[in-house]
Formats: sequence, C-alpha cells, structure tokens
Amino acid sequence: MRKAVFIYSGELERYRYPPEHPFNTIRAKKTREIVNSMGLLSGEGRSEVPPEAAERIVLKKFHSARYLHTLKAASEGKFNAEAFGMGIGTLDCPVFEGLYEYAVLATGGTVVAAKLIISGDANVAFNPSGGFHHAGPERASGFCYINDAALACIILAEAGKKVLYLDVDVHHGDGVAYAFYKRSDVMTISFHENPRMLFPGTGFEDEIGTGEGKGYCVNVPLPIGTYDEAYMKVFEEIALPLITAFGPDVIVFELGADALSGDPLAHLRLTNNVYADIVNHLLSFGRPILTTGGGGYNVDNTVRAWALAWSVLCGVDSGQEQQGGLRDENLSVSSQQRDTVLSAIEATIEAVKANIFSFHNL
Ligand SMILES: [Zn+2]
Repeated sequence: MRKAVFIYSGELERYRYPPEHPFNTIRAKKTREIVNSMGLLSGEGRSEVPPEAAERIVLKKFHSARYLHTLKAASEGKFNAEAFGMGIGTLDCPVFEGLYEYAVLATGGTVVAAKLIISGDANVAFNPSGGFHHAGPERASGFCYINDAALACIILAEAGKKVLYLDVDVHHGDGVAYAFYKRSDVMTISFHENPRMLFPGTGFEDEIGTGEGKGYCVNVPLPIGTYDEAYMKVFEEIALPLITAFGPDVIVFELGADALSGDPLAHLRLTNNVYADIVNHLLSFGRPILTTGGGGYNVDNTVRAWALAWSVLCGVDSGQEQQGGLRDENLSVSSQQRDTVLSAIEATIEAVKANIFSFHNL
C-alpha cells in the first residue's frame, strides 16, 4: 500500500517574506487547505506530519558553519558586510523577521520526509514548503537561504541510496546540480527556461558534470513559449530513458510551479496537466518519491498545481473530472508558436543526447 505523507504545520504560517517580495509562504497553507477539503490528508495510507527544525549538524552536511552563523546573526538583526557578501540582505534574499527559523523549519520538513523514506514509513512525501534549490554552501541566492533539496539528496545518498534528482522549476536548479557535479551516485536532471533569458544564467546543455560525475548532471534548457506537448516530448525523450538507465533507489522531485503559463517571473506556457503526467511517469518507476515545492509566483495557479500533484501522488484516480476541478484547461498553441518552439526543442534534444547518452550506453 502507498504510504503518502504530506508535510505541514501551522507553525510555518508565522513567517512571511516582505510583502513586496514575490515568494509567498502562504502557498503551502493554501495547498494544504485544498487537499484537506478533498479528504486527502487521511485514510488509505495518507497522513500529515509536521516539519521539525533541521539541526545544525544536518545543515552542515551542505552549508559551511561560517555561513550558518552569519545567516542566523543576520536574522537576529546582527547584519554585516560579510552577510551581504554571502547574498544575505539583497533584494532577492532579504532579511525578514524569523528568517532563520523559517528557513530551518521549511528545510526540516524536507529532512523529515527523507528520513521517513529511509525508514520505510513513507514511499511518497510532499513538502510544499521546500525546494530552495538555488542556495549554495556559502551563499543565499534566488529567494533561497538553505538548500533543503541538496540536503535531502545528501541524506538519502548517505543511507546508501542511488538518488535521482529531477527539477522542473522554471529556473536552473544550480545549487543542487553543483552540489553533485563530481558524483555519480546522485544524478541531477533540471528542466528550465533558456538561461540566456532567466536567472541564474546557468544550466546549458554542455554543463554535464566533471570527473566521476561526468554524464550525471543533465541540463535541459527550454525556449520561451514551451507548451505542454513540447515539454512532454523532451521529458519522454530525455528524462525517461536516463532515469531508466540510471535505476535510482529514490527520486527527489523539485516541483517549482513557475513554468506554468501566467507566471509573472518566467515565460513558459505549461498547464498543470504536465505536472500530473510527470508524477504519473515517476510513479511508474516504483521507487519512493520525495517531492518539494519551489518557485511559483502566480499563487492560485501554483496552489492548484501542487494540490493536483498531491492527488496524483496519493493515487487518486487521474481521470479528468475526478480531481476536484484542479486540472487546467488545455491552452491553444498557434502554428507559428508550435514551429518556433519545436525547432528549438529538437536542437536541445539532440544536444543533450550527444552530450549525455553515451555515458549511459544509450
Ligand atoms: Zn523558480
């Protein structure tokens, strides 16, 4: 039986980024309200588990002691030039009340999920408050302070698991990709908008890892206007064969929802049906899946996408009508847009295959 754990507690609601900041912590609360109203937090193997603040010893598996100290001090009002040099206190990564407590609690949710998967108490877990994939060992970046996704992969790898990290946030999952750039026990695959157009400006097809990690870092940049059918074509031609060849023990899935049409920070045109399709593909591997939130700056669209993803992760019938009206309507695509996107996508598929596939006998 599927054991599906939703990670949430009201304690997360105590923290907010500044009001003018695009990152809205209320998305987790709203997602939780929808899935709760659908009865999807209990029964049939489903449960809700609160996050626990991640311990310093866990955080140090990825972040430096100097950085953690500086972040905590900044959060307590002791801000200095060193903090600014680490990206703390910038427009993207402002200091706000309870910043450190929030970052550690949200990260703790992902850590709890990883532990539940290792112990066998969960085979599906979702922390909508996680997914801070841009943070570096000594750097706050792109609204992210502590990299829960990288920490989850580290913890799972330490438990002897082969980890597949899949990142569908519209921005390159740089913090996680570079954490495992030299390793072959954690494969990272990031689908994102063309880095020439979008933060953080990395994630080109030729960034494939180094040393032992060569061929285990996969970057799939996508053109402006990428729509569902085109996205799924790349997913099926690149991600599916690579995941099959890699044969992971566990999947960590960063489900930033900022690739959805209407996101104010990006330029792709997906509907949430893509996320449902991807979750179904991932479930077909029969391995545990740790899903996190991430970006997503149209709050209502993001919340619906995450609620839909949870319903699919829970194994609720994926028929179009059965998911409480959570699915987006299909978007029409002009033939001109279709041609433009498809030609760029064909080139991406060829480049990624040429750079990566031979390392996996594909
Ligand atoms: Zn993003």
